[in-house]
Amino acid sequence: MALIVHKYGGTSMGSTERIRNVAKRVAKWVRAGHQLVVVPSAMSGETNRLLGLAKELSPEVVTPTIQRELDMIAATGEQVSVGLLSIALQQEGMEAVSYSGWQVPIRTDSSYTKARIQSIDDAKVRADLAAGRVVVITGFQGVDEDMNITTLGRGGSDTSAVAVAAAMKADECLIYTDVDGVYTTDPRIVPEARRLHTISFEEMLEMASLGSKVLQIRSVEFAGKYRVPLRVLSSFTPWDIDIDKEAKSGTLITFEEDEKMEQAVVSGIAFNRDEAKVTLLGVPDKPGIAFQILGPVAEANIDIDVIIQNVSQDGKTDFSFTVHRSDYARCLDLLKSVVGPAVQAAQVLGDAKICKVSIVGIGMKSHVGVAAKMFRALSEEGINIQMISTSEIKTSVVIDEKYMELAVRALHKAFELDQEAA
Ligand code: ADP
Ligand code: ASP
Ligand code: MG
Repeated sequence: MALIVHKYGGTSMGSTERIRNVAKRVAKWVRAGHQLVVVPSAMSGETNRLLGLAKELSPEVVTPTIQRELDMIAATGEQVSVGLLSIALQQEGMEAVSYSGWQVPIRTDSSYTKARIQSIDDAKVRADLAAGRVVVITGFQGVDEDMNITTLGRGGSDTSAVAVAAAMKADECLIYTDVDGVYTTDPRIVPEARRLHTISFEEMLEMASLGSKVLQIRSVEFAGKYRVPLRVLSSFTPWDIDIDKEAKSGTLITFEEDEKMEQAVVSGIAFNRDEAKVTLLGVPDKPGIAFQILGPVAEANIDIDVIIQNVSQDGKTDFSFTVHRSDYARCLDLLKSVVGPAVQAAQVLGDAKICKVSIVGIGMKSHVGVAAKMFRALSEEGINIQMISTSEIKTSVVIDEKYMELAVRALHKAFELDQEAA
């Protein structure tokens, strides 16, 4: 008997028919002798719908007090899901009980809309499991020390599931979704993308942080920290397929350094449309200038990603960086009104129509010329590179948003990712 955590995403929970299917799959695992904790997301589209309602009433700047209410609202999507799934499980002859995050409780900090899990009290869940129940826990949410409901950021049900698995030392955490695993890139953009049988934890972390939405980055961080055996697989296979076959399907996230992801130099391509670029033209090139620019931005709680500073000409230089698109207007305003004048910038510019495309692979540590190959593939498509950023296992470029799909396809082809690695 193993303790298994199943997570089902929005599409997998998309209708009562789909929920019935989830219940049949869970029941199959229970009948095979396992203890099951199930973490579902809200039904697909529901979180957007709920947040859209809030936006109708408050389209302007989102204050912390509004953020608190957004979490109160958004958390209800998952509450509906757990109730429905529990009923469906009971219809399958299972004893099942549903809990919201606050009932477990899953404790988080108070950063509304992007809270971090701090601890999970698993006593109640263990008692239910011992009594033969399936436990269904809301994804995406928790409670802070003042009993405010918090949410974990979009896509946060992955993190709830992995955190529950970590807290309970589950034997495995299975992330059921609408694709049958982690692909070399988003199969919606590149139909030739190939499913990976395994991906190293390090690569998965990069892919997630660079924009692959198949797993929320914090779920991968949790899996790494607590060594949670993690697998991404499809909920769209027939529920009654052989359980051993199902348990080995999809993509396994591995923790062994030498189990390099299928030995490829580049293993995957990620992209991110959620960033925007700001530029200060003609700032004095002198010590402390980067700090004078980025200090106030950091103080305003705006995260900075790619940074580039040009060579100076006549003692002046240009300075650009990217921020999350949701912070773009605020950041541009801060630069125009405060930072720009303070550092005597000749001009402050902004561009929200950019995207970041990245190649990821552990093999990049030991191979040269990988970035050059990337730049050549982009130049052959006539795509101009605006910014570049590298680390040991990734190279990212910032380009015009309109070339995103073209760039991803060209890179996928250039690195022959549609073909099985030797
Ligand atoms: P869920 O609702 O189950 O959490 P998500 O929509 O959050 O599902 O994540 C699954 C989606 O992630 C897929 O439908 C796919 O379009 C997208 N995706 C992006 N990059 C990848 C990738 N490298 N491999 C697989 N899927 C990816
Ligand atoms: N329902 C939440 C969202 O849409 C969490 C999740 O699906 O993981 O972001
Ligand atoms: Mg998701």
